[in-house]
Amino acid sequence: MSIRLRIVDPEAMEALGARIAGELRAGDAVLLSGELGAGKTTFTRGLGAALGVRGTVTSPTFVLARTHPREDGGAPLVHVDAYRLGDAAELDDLDIDFAGSIAVVEWGAGLLEHLVDEWLSITIMRPTGAGAAGAADDAGTDPDEAPVEPREVIIEGVGERWSDLGWLHAAGD
Ligand code: ADP
Ligand code: MG
Repeated sequence: MSIRLRIVDPEAMEALGARIAGELRAGDAVLLSGELGAGKTTFTRGLGAALGVRGTVTSPTFVLARTHPREDGGAPLVHVDAYRLGDAAELDDLDIDFAGSIAVVEWGAGLLEHLVDEWLSITIMRPTGAGAAGAADDAGTDPDEAPVEPREVIIEGVGERWSDLGWLHAAGD
């Protein structure tokens, strides 16, 4: 089952993250795909804010994994940027407590699947041909420069945990 959404601006992307945060609990993993500047970190920022994490979620490009404790003592958010990781063994080496936290992994496609059995996959796409200037494949490029444009988001659940994505619709809009 997959759901396709049109997310018009960064605020709507944060709202999507917040909506999904409401479903997450310890042991859950979210796999984020999409080119640089697609909106993966923006999504995670909204997700983290809704979880009530301490500290703002920022792009972890120079930190492979950052653990954000929750104000309410709930399962922490572990935000991973796997951009520089070569294989699943390197991701495994980070010793992430997948069972005890909510893991959100940017650039984890092809890696995370080897470490967890179930995950929620979120793929963010920019409109074709748009944002060429902001779409440089240089990780040092400041994505804050990206112009506001709609994104196409495809959400797919893998495993029994995510076999029903009806809650995504039930939450409104
Ligand atoms: P990534 O983590 O995928 O590299 P970021 O979330 O860091 O991307 O950056 C996305 C950039 O695109 C931000 O500057 C954000 O303001 C901008 N942006 C413009 N339109 C949207 C949209 N519809 N959804 C999400 N981000 C958007
Ligand atoms: Mg990012």
